[in-house]
Amino acid sequence: MPWLLVLFCLSLAAQPASYQKISPRQAAELFRSVDEITAFVSHETGLPIHSKVKRALVSREAMLENLRRNMSDDPDTQRLRHESETLIKLGLLPRGYSLEKGLLALLGEGVNGYYDEKTQTMNLLDWLPPAAQKPVMAHELTHALQDQNFDLRHWTLGEEWKRKDLNFADRIALEEAINARQAVLEGQGNLVMVDYMLAPTGQSVQDNPQVLALVRKRMYTGGAETPVFQAAPVVLREGMIFPYTSGMDFVMRVQQQRGVEASYGGLLRNPPAETLQIMAPQLYLHGQRAPGLRPADFEGLLGPQWERYDDGAVGALDLRVLLLQWGGDAALTSNWRGGYYAAFRRKNDAKAPLSVAMALRFATPEAAQSFDVVYRAYLKQRCEALKPDGEGYASAEGLLQSEVYGPLWMTTESFDAATAALLHSAMLAAAR
Ligand SMILES: [Zn+2]
Repeated sequence: MPWLLVLFCLSLAAQPASYQKISPRQAAELFRSVDEITAFVSHETGLPIHSKVKRALVSREAMLENLRRNMSDDPDTQRLRHESETLIKLGLLPRGYSLEKGLLALLGEGVNGYYDEKTQTMNLLDWLPPAAQKPVMAHELTHALQDQNFDLRHWTLGEEWKRKDLNFADRIALEEAINARQAVLEGQGNLVMVDYMLAPTGQSVQDNPQVLALVRKRMYTGGAETPVFQAAPVVLREGMIFPYTSGMDFVMRVQQQRGVEASYGGLLRNPPAETLQIMAPQLYLHGQRAPGLRPADFEGLLGPQWERYDDGAVGALDLRVLLLQWGGDAALTSNWRGGYYAAFRRKNDAKAPLSVAMALRFATPEAAQSFDVVYRAYLKQRCEALKPDGEGYASAEGLLQSEVYGPLWMTTESFDAATAALLHSAMLAAAR
């Protein structure tokens, strides 16, 4: 679920409740401190400075306009709309919810500054008090040095994502790699920011790893200062905060195990490949990856009356979101070993519900069974007129059929019985 692709590198935190534009004198002083903070970041990360970082002060309106433009320029915008419908279908977004509007509202509330890789400019916001700006600058300037040393437009795999010749299996792997890399960028930014805040006390985050728990808590529970975030659907909250919190913990763990160089330049040279590695850094440190799940060739199966509407990876982060939304135990996430979904529409029937196929590989058959229990329990909440029908359920949205084969779990929703059977055996065959 790659909706974060439309964004650029942000610093995200609760903002002070009252806003007041900063004065020209304060702005000039802030800009003067850019070079000093860049030097701090370079010293902290070992990433050399290659050129003076461009800087700009932007208003809230200009920032939101820029975000909006970035979103609507993005070829992924249509994808975002289609994905909204899948998320609504799965109970992850309320009916009628606009992912674009939701994201903009969240960003308007939570963004403290951003580094624009297109223009290589650090943008500060003219309504944040100067005292709050300097740690934000440490975060943004980390992105500037990541960019100067590793060319973020290329490194974030955004260019790769635009390629037209990728098959579904390639895109699933790419989506996971993109999410993992974003967690590295934001995790590094946050860690440097915390170090910058600790510096006047003569300490670093290495002396004080418990500080990270406070930062994490602060991001999750901004309280009255972040009403939009607190009220946002789980999928947005978790997706938005993951790179900042889990990414920060991941970078810290690499630093504790392998040292500072490994946690900055080392991670940028040799990035993690999937969100499970971010959640379980020991996997990354031991060079271990999940086996993944080879997707079925749906095109060869479904006739010309079907349109492929949306598809993507179901990574460890997505599994965590599903578990949180569906009322399961989030600890099951560590059993993720691969997953994907694909959504289809019947071409000549605009009123037909979206049809979805999804498959997940777990570490053990028991984990797959546990997930199936969670899935079936939540069906009762999200589907009207649900009643048992053979192995699955009939509902107002048609037939829903989940199955477990050893460590594999799969479901089809809103396909006719014959098509569902075909899809199940194809997903099973592809997985083996
Ligand atoms: Zn950032």
